[in-house]
Amino acid sequence: MNSMRTLLTKLATHPLALLVLFVVVFFGAPYLRGATLQILSFALVSILFTQSINVLTGMAGQISLGHAAFFGIGAYGSAIIAKTFGLNLFLTIPVAAVVSSLIAYLLSYPAGRVKEVYLAMMTLGFGQIFLEVAREWTDLTGGVMGLSGVPSAGLGTLIILGHKFSTIDYFRVLLLITACSMIFIRNFSQSRLGRSLFVMHYSELAAGSVGIARRQTKQLAYALSGLLAGISGGFYAHLVGYLGPESFAISRSIEVLVVAIVGGLWSSAGQVISAIFFTFLPEQLQLFAEYQFIAYGLILTFTLILFRQGIGGLLFLPPRFIRQAWLTTAVEQQRQATAANSQTNEPQFLKIQTVSADIKVQEITMRFGGLVALNSVSLDIQAGHITALVGPNGSGKSTLVNIIAGVFPPTSGQVFLQGSDVTAQADVEMAKKGVVRTFQDPRLVPHFTVRENIMLGAHAMMHYTWLEAGLSMPRVRLQEAQALEQCNEILQLLDIEAVADQAVESLPYGYRRMTELGRALLARPKIILLDEPAAGLSDVEMTRLAEILVKLKHLGITVLLIEHHMDFLTGLVDEVVVLDSGSIIFKGDMLGMRQDPKVIAAYLGDDEVQHA
Ligand code: ADP
Ligand code: MG
Repeated sequence: MNSMRTLLTKLATHPLALLVLFVVVFFGAPYLRGATLQILSFALVSILFTQSINVLTGMAGQISLGHAAFFGIGAYGSAIIAKTFGLNLFLTIPVAAVVSSLIAYLLSYPAGRVKEVYLAMMTLGFGQIFLEVAREWTDLTGGVMGLSGVPSAGLGTLIILGHKFSTIDYFRVLLLITACSMIFIRNFSQSRLGRSLFVMHYSELAAGSVGIARRQTKQLAYALSGLLAGISGGFYAHLVGYLGPESFAISRSIEVLVVAIVGGLWSSAGQVISAIFFTFLPEQLQLFAEYQFIAYGLILTFTLILFRQGIGGLLFLPPRFIRQAWLTTAVEQQRQATAANSQTNEPQFLKIQTVSADIKVQEITMRFGGLVALNSVSLDIQAGHITALVGPNGSGKSTLVNIIAGVFPPTSGQVFLQGSDVTAQADVEMAKKGVVRTFQDPRLVPHFTVRENIMLGAHAMMHYTWLEAGLSMPRVRLQEAQALEQCNEILQLLDIEAVADQAVESLPYGYRRMTELGRALLARPKIILLDEPAAGLSDVEMTRLAEILVKLKHLGITVLLIEHHMDFLTGLVDEVVVLDSGSIIFKGDMLGMRQDPKVIAAYLGDDEVQHA
């Protein structure tokens, strides 16, 4: 089973195999029956449309139940411009697609603020509004009577630069556009921006913690998705030659989701197969046209029960989100660099060049409704030190980390980073200033490998745009290879190279913690805030973690560490701060803490004293 998957994956990703397939279809088109060619053209439109939902829902996790609207904007837009101004589709489709993209971009503002059911309802509403406009704006869309006379190859009315476009010409153009957009999306998905869409899907907090701007990332997902939907809609319009509002009803929005899910979210190859299947299926089910959606429902249900990952998961290995060739370049670069330098086993790129950073927290109070989680807490996290924050569960440790990291603003009080006031600055900003944190419960993209997850940390260090990513411009390779090289150094530091290419969801807890630490490190922290990094680790892993923390200190990184294991902290930390019920009850060194009567009473208890 697995060897078959490997083989099929090799075929489906092999450039030569894909080129051969393309050439065969391209030059084989004239030998197909007219009806078959027509259905294949519909399948290509469906593949394009599926790519669009794949970007928004598959990658970024933003449910859309109104996606037919963007398809419709592309279709009506291109048809209306073509009819009104007599322009050809090489102009009208791009214009319509840009309009669709712009509207999607605008929708991202309200939609980006809501999640799950609310998002589903909002997009559903958007789809319905579009449908009503298409029905009622009779002058523009022809209303319920529809818009006929759209220049179309099938009707022989599509004339481009004096050349009459045949259905074969049209099919070939469509094939070319579909192939190009699939290459574009694949390049995009293997870039910092593609990966950033996935992290939005699983944890917006994790995104913010490494400087991935949430709103911009959603805007990108919507705009790119709208663009692709617009292109597919445009090609649909000139394929059928007639547009009626019913073609853009909710059933089409549902259909594209079904195609994407049955194909396997984020599996392009699976989705191609699924799109072709669902285009041919209704033809075969002509007799049962009324039951078409029952068939869809049954297929979807069985897919979800039998193979969650869809056709893609059944036939192919999971797609990867890092380009193998760039990894090879990175490994080569690293080999040369280590040959030239002496091996220190400390990633030198992490070294703090100027003075280490300190944080001053002044009279921070945090209330959640009536609950006072922090009560006028003041403390200094000294530059270049390891400071431990300890205290019973619920004493406010995580809350303090959240406030320093900018997850939420304090009710009152101030936070200073290297002397400048950073109170209430957003987590994304704090990450860019070098304050990076990990979470008490690791927040990772489960189907990403360890390496892919760590690479999320390099997002803000790379600067290429979505267009460069999709076109795979030289700057992308340069920056990705450098980030991958640094990622390798971190994998070595954390001693997790052996599992680098395994999906984190299949790994034990300790590796996930290490992966999250790696992601934070690749974001080049000046100050790292670790929320219970040793929880759930084995003794061996804890020893390794202590060694790593010492190395980070050598590099000049300031560390704040929340931890419960006293033995782990002894000999490791420079200062310890004890919180109890939102107030600081002790500041000093480990020895002093273990002998402090208040700490013993509130936190350590008698066992610990005997132990010490
Ligand atoms: P610790 O990390 O020390 O175990 P926390 O900082 O997580 O403690 O929690 C401190 C107190 O604040 C707890 O009573 C907790 O229930 C409450 N709390 C923490 N975060 C929130 C939140 N987002 N909303 C409401 N209450 C919260
Ligand atoms: Mg906590």
